[in-house]
Amino acid sequence: MRFYIKDKYLVPHLGEGSLPISKIQTIPQPPLNPDFSFNPDLQLLLTGKQLILDDLPFPHDEIQKHYENGYVTYRKGMEYNRSQPTCSRCGNNKENWFAQFPCSRCGEICHYCRKCLMMGRISACTPLLGWNGPAPEQPLPKTILEWKGRLSEGQQAASNQVVHAVESNKELLVWAVCGAGKTEVLFEGTESALTARKRVCIATPRTDVVLELTPRLKAAFPGITVASLYGGSEDRHLYAPLTIATTHQLLRFYHAFDTVILDEVDAFPYTVEESLQYAAVQARKPESAMIYLTATPNEKWQRECRTGKRAFTTIPARFHRHPLPVPHFTWCGNWQKQLKKEKLPANILHWVKERLKNKKQALLFFPHIGLMEKFLPILRQLTPNIEAVHAEDPDRKEKVQKMRNKEIPLLLTTTILERGVTFSNIDVAVIGAEDNIFAESALVQIAGRAGRSKDYPKGVVTFFHYGKTEEMIKARKQITAMNQEGTRRGLLDS
Ligand SMILES: [Zn+2]
Ligand SMILES: [Zn+2]
Repeated sequence: MRFYIKDKYLVPHLGEGSLPISKIQTIPQPPLNPDFSFNPDLQLLLTGKQLILDDLPFPHDEIQKHYENGYVTYRKGMEYNRSQPTCSRCGNNKENWFAQFPCSRCGEICHYCRKCLMMGRISACTPLLGWNGPAPEQPLPKTILEWKGRLSEGQQAASNQVVHAVESNKELLVWAVCGAGKTEVLFEGTESALTARKRVCIATPRTDVVLELTPRLKAAFPGITVASLYGGSEDRHLYAPLTIATTHQLLRFYHAFDTVILDEVDAFPYTVEESLQYAAVQARKPESAMIYLTATPNEKWQRECRTGKRAFTTIPARFHRHPLPVPHFTWCGNWQKQLKKEKLPANILHWVKERLKNKKQALLFFPHIGLMEKFLPILRQLTPNIEAVHAEDPDRKEKVQKMRNKEIPLLLTTTILERGVTFSNIDVAVIGAEDNIFAESALVQIAGRAGRSKDYPKGVVTFFHYGKTEEMIKARKQITAMNQEGTRRGLLDS
């Protein structure tokens, strides 16, 4: 789009003297006119957002009126540092992530951002729209938190810290072991924010987690509107005091939330996508709290915790008060060479046979699909109903469900099941734990699949390897350190 400045206003205009918005030096913001009667639907849609005109089902005339009366803001969709563009929505500034096209909206050869294209095109002439008027009312029910459960001692200590961080707009890392019950740790902090009429967002890299958390939070906060946002969700335009979203969806928010809770900060794709980290920061209000949740902080964060540079709290013990299973390291020789001759190392075969004999279900993790698929027919000679699953497997959900129903004795998997899934009573093995793909965090998550249930708090975890790695050692160290802290703090029964 092209604009020109008339009487200290930006006015859409195609003729002489007009410019694409990115070329206008300073965007004027008219003062708020208290006598203007604004459209409450636009208020609901735009509060805390950064949207493009295509996102808004309102005529541009009406939006322009709101701008002239100070209720809507225009920002440049793209900022230039000399000739170098940066996308204001996703933060992309890498040259190869921009392209050019002959743009019908501004009549020029226009740059656009390829990085966030799936959310609608941001080009050099795209205005990003926001809301500058009053925020919508947030009616509160009498009781906000209806959850009747009880926190474990470890959960309660962490929960108190979360409440404190929320109230004082601080950052806090909650480092909770797999199976600690971290969702419940958010309830009191969320309640305290909602009571103060603050807006809360729980964001996570994975859609699965949004779908799992939504019903739990709706049940805990039945009187509160909850927006559940992921690609294709119906709540896209819903204004809510409590939002649960994938980190991707945060790209549409701007200075929206007083509290952002970022779950699984170490998980793909958040760790690799700079734009998602940028989105999480943009979605926060300048004065806000940020709670990070993870079972496996990366090395940099662990170091910052140790040296006092990062505020953190740990939940070193599971809610059932049993220690985490500590991985055994078992050398299995050159297993890939044996596999070429369609043979398995004797100790792996023995491990599997033991489980089948004792009817103990097990998960077997592999570094790559190809290797897993060579293993499968050999193991099926022992019993035909063994299954294997990987990321692109169309039957992934069914196979996981069959495992839950105890219809299959053994499930072979790639790292796709390293987090998020819970089976009540399983042993876990990693085949080829020396592979690069098994970083410390992956190994801690994998070991964290065992012993989750209070009825079966024990599980065997074995890392079969052809040469111990640094990552394996660090993973085991992290697990034993958590168990020791759990003992020291009196959070373990055994
Ligand atoms: Zn972008
Ligand atoms: Zn253009």
